[in-house]
Amino acid sequence: MSDSTARPLLWIIVPCYNEEQVLPITAPLFLEKIHALAGAGLISEKSRVCFVNDGSRDRTWELICQFAREDEHYIGISQSRNRGHQNAVLAGLMEARDKCDITISIDCDGQDDINAMDEMVQQYLDGCEVVYGVRSRRDTDTFFKRFTAEGFYHLMNLLGADIVFNHADYRLISARVLESFADYKEVNIFLRGLIPLVGYKSGTVYYARSERLAGESHYPLKKMLALAFDGITSLSNKPIRLITGLGAVFSIVSFIGVIWAFIQAMTGHTVAGWASTVSIVCLMGGIQLICLGVIGEYIGKIYMETKARPRYIISERTWQPYERKYRG
Ligand code: UDP
Ligand code: MG
Repeated sequence: MSDSTARPLLWIIVPCYNEEQVLPITAPLFLEKIHALAGAGLISEKSRVCFVNDGSRDRTWELICQFAREDEHYIGISQSRNRGHQNAVLAGLMEARDKCDITISIDCDGQDDINAMDEMVQQYLDGCEVVYGVRSRRDTDTFFKRFTAEGFYHLMNLLGADIVFNHADYRLISARVLESFADYKEVNIFLRGLIPLVGYKSGTVYYARSERLAGESHYPLKKMLALAFDGITSLSNKPIRLITGLGAVFSIVSFIGVIWAFIQAMTGHTVAGWASTVSIVCLMGGIQLICLGVIGEYIGKIYMETKARPRYIISERTWQPYERKYRG
C-alpha cells in the first residue's frame, strides 16, 4: 500500500558551462521553486537542485560547491572536461537515476520560464511520465535564430525523426522513463529526439522564452549547425536514402544525355561550347562531394559508436569531494 503522505522527490538538473555570471542570479530562483512546490504539497521537501558543471574554466564549480555548503537543497556534480550541453544533461540524468522520482532539466541562464515547472509537476501528478516544455514565443531570439531553429524542426520531422516542435531541453521525466532511457547506450545523443522514442504518456507545457539573465550564449552558429547535423544524422538515415535517390535520378538523366549526344553526333550536329559541359561536371562534382560528406558523417558516427567511449566522466560530486590518497 502506498503512503498517502509521500510526495514525489524532484531533482532539477541544471547544466552549467562557464556560467559564473548568471548562476548567482538563477540558483536562488530554482531553490525558491522547490520550496514553493514543496510548500504547495506537490513535491517532497527532500527535492534537490542538481547542477552539472560541464568542465567550466571559470568559477562555476567553486560557486556550486559554495551553494551546496550553504543549503542542502543544492547539490552538484562536475565533469572532468567540457562535453557539451547534451552530455551534461545526460550526466545529470544518470546521476539522478535511483535517487528521485522526477527530474526536470533546464538551462541555467533563466531563458526557460521556471514557473512552467508548476504545470509540469501537475501534469506528472495527473499521470504523464514525460512533460515537454515548448516555447510558445521566441520574440527574444533574433530573426536569424528563429528562422534557423524553426527550419530545423521542420526538417527533422520531414526526415522522419519524431521531435516536438519548438521543444528544447526543458522537460520533466519520471523515474520510470529514466530507467527505460538508460538502455539507450549510444554515444551520439540528441535528447530531444531520443526521449520521444522511449514512449509513455506525455504532456506539453507552453511558455514564453525570455532573454538570458546574464552571460553569453555558448551556441554560436557553428555549434548550432553541428548540433542540428548531429541531431539529423543520429536520428534518421533518410539523408543516405535521399543520396541514393539523387544518384539514381542523376544516372538516369546522364544516360539520356549520353544517348542524346550520340544521336546528335550521328546526325552531324557537333555540340558547340564547353561552358555547359564544364558547369555540369562541376555541379556533379559538388553533389558527389556533399554526398560523400554525408556518408562520411554516418561512418564517423559508426566509428565513434563502436569505440563505446564513456559519454561523461564525473570527476567530483559536492557530497563526495575528491581527495588524493597516497599508498606509500
Ligand atoms: N552548456 C553546457 N555545456 C556546453 C554549452 C552549454 O552545459 O558546452 C549549458 C549552458 O550553461 C546552459 C545551457 O547549456 O545552461 C544552454 O546553453 P546556452 O544558453 O549557451 O545556449 P542557447 O540558449 O543560447 O541556445
Ligand atoms: Mg540559453
